[in-house]
Amino acid sequence: MFVQGDYGEFFPPSLSSIPYNISVATSYSGYDNIEIAKKYGYDVEEIKETIPEITEKVIKSIDLPKDIKNVTDDILQAVIFDQENKKYFRIIRPELDFYRQHNLPLPRINPFTRLSEKRKRFGTIVFELYNRSCPQCGNNFQTSYAPDRPEIVYCEQCYQQEVV
Ligand SMILES: [Zn+2]
Repeated sequence: MFVQGDYGEFFPPSLSSIPYNISVATSYSGYDNIEIAKKYGYDVEEIKETIPEITEKVIKSIDLPKDIKNVTDDILQAVIFDQENKKYFRIIRPELDFYRQHNLPLPRINPFTRLSEKRKRFGTIVFELYNRSCPQCGNNFQTSYAPDRPEIVYCEQCYQQEVV
């Protein structure tokens, strides 16, 4: 890291442990363009989704009871099919207990799609940069730490001298 000159930089795309296209990054607005990710050197792999043979009872999500009071524990053995997104999912015990405790209906949409939609609601992640001066040497630099925050923020040079 010291020899290559990338010490202190964010991890390079080559160290990413999973292909970009199946990472959670793609579920954030502004980070879902696979072609741009490839240009930055991220690994992209075609993932073939295999649907295992389902021997359990399959319930279409639109046919789930609308009221949680009408759901029995049998739902824990069933496979639920989200027709809109063509995905299968299950309900697990802690989840069922939570829905019952809070009197919430079972979800109709599979968890991956729900999570992805939730992340997209955050919008594009934009970091605000502020001008600050280094308390060690007085150099001016930009940082994501707002000037009114209590942390002491050194310029990169002073930071590197401090941590090495
Ligand atoms: Zn400094």
